[in-house]
Amino acid sequence: MNEHDSEKVAGVLLARGYRQVETPESASLILYNTCSIREKAAQKLFSRLGVYRDLLGGEQKIGVLGCVAQQEGEAIFARAPWVSLVCGSASYRNLPQLLAQLEAGEERVSGLGIDTDETFETEVTRRDNPWRAYITIIEGCDKACAYCVVPFTRGPERSRDSARILAELRKLAELGYSEVQFLGQTVNSYADPSPRKMRFSELLLEAAQVPGIRRVRFTTSHPRDFTPDIVAAIDAHPGICNHVHLPVQSGSTRVLRAMQRTYSRDEYLEKIAMIRGARRRTAITTDIIVGFPGESEAEFDETLSLLDVVKYDGVFSFKYSPRPNTPATAMPDAIPEEEKSRRLSLLQEKQRRIQIESLRGLAGNIFEVHVDGKSKKENHWHGHSSCNRVVNFASTQDDILGRYVAVRVNGCTPNSLLGEHTSN
Ligand code: SAM
Ligand code: SF4
Repeated sequence: MNEHDSEKVAGVLLARGYRQVETPESASLILYNTCSIREKAAQKLFSRLGVYRDLLGGEQKIGVLGCVAQQEGEAIFARAPWVSLVCGSASYRNLPQLLAQLEAGEERVSGLGIDTDETFETEVTRRDNPWRAYITIIEGCDKACAYCVVPFTRGPERSRDSARILAELRKLAELGYSEVQFLGQTVNSYADPSPRKMRFSELLLEAAQVPGIRRVRFTTSHPRDFTPDIVAAIDAHPGICNHVHLPVQSGSTRVLRAMQRTYSRDEYLEKIAMIRGARRRTAITTDIIVGFPGESEAEFDETLSLLDVVKYDGVFSFKYSPRPNTPATAMPDAIPEEEKSRRLSLLQEKQRRIQIESLRGLAGNIFEVHVDGKSKKENHWHGHSSCNRVVNFASTQDDILGRYVAVRVNGCTPNSLLGEHTSN
């Protein structure tokens, strides 16, 4: 999502007549986008700003965007007086005005309000990938997970008008994009503000029918709002990718309650059963946090056992990291860092074994692969299947970049499939 924010911000700059340059030294304006979901984000920002100050000699304007800008606010000006602009993610729609103020000679400008019901609409978005485009459909978050900084930095949930989303998609299709990824912190909590009141599953179906669009992805889904009509939409249209990213965070109902995730282990498993019950074999991936305050050994074992039950196709796992202002920072029984690291490696090792086993089971299958790059090895390429698996494969054809090709799987690595281009 942060990457896509940067693409939209770059679009705002292009629309104002700026052009992108290759190095910070040759820029007149540098905007630094930040994320503070984990780890020492503020520290990282200030050391980076120090590097810019030493490198650039004071001629350029420097701005800070994103979550850290939101959290640190105008304190950034005090700690790094060479910064001229501070703008949080909920205020990007004010960027053109902030830039105009800077251009008019104001020394310091900021956009830090988060109490908003508006979304960030851009006329131009400078996309990095020529075939796959991100589209934000919902901004902010109204959930209140006890560990998470997003509601404080990105503001309340606000959905974009479905007609606007579909118009952007049609424009992208005309430009040659064939794959789109709908984005939102809780993408499936989408609530169309227009009189049409399109449901999220209807939006997926309509998007998949746009001429030229071959794949529609979406991330991240919140388990509570994952409803049967989404599974029905995946079953109904092959253009809707058969992959669901459904973060669980913990396999223990006690920890889930402490995290304020709004579902129990069993309720989560019901959602998994619903997806597994679909006609199309749908890949499921997840996010897990280990070492949440008070997580006992037995509760961590419940997370490990969940991996055995679900057999995820991929897991993003993190050590709990205390975030400013979040309720979890005040919770007792913090887990020591070494213990968090131990749990993380146990979890990752277990998942590695599960994943290899399931990838091995795919030998002989044929996948449609969207080719997104050439490997260093001659006649070798890589791309993604609809179920979002990375596929490395051999092909003697030399014009397949950006195309969809059939690949027969003949092996795997821990994180990807190996295969060869086939005409079947
Ligand atoms: N909105 C999504 C959801 O509900 O799952 C994910 C948002 S967050 C950007 C991505 C992942 O970062 C989360 O799923 C969680 O696993 C992890 N995360 C968020 N806050 C964290 C924290 N304080 N410490 C460790 N991991 C965290
Ligand atoms: Fe954070 Fe929870 Fe919102 Fe996801 S749903 S962004 S984890 S508060």
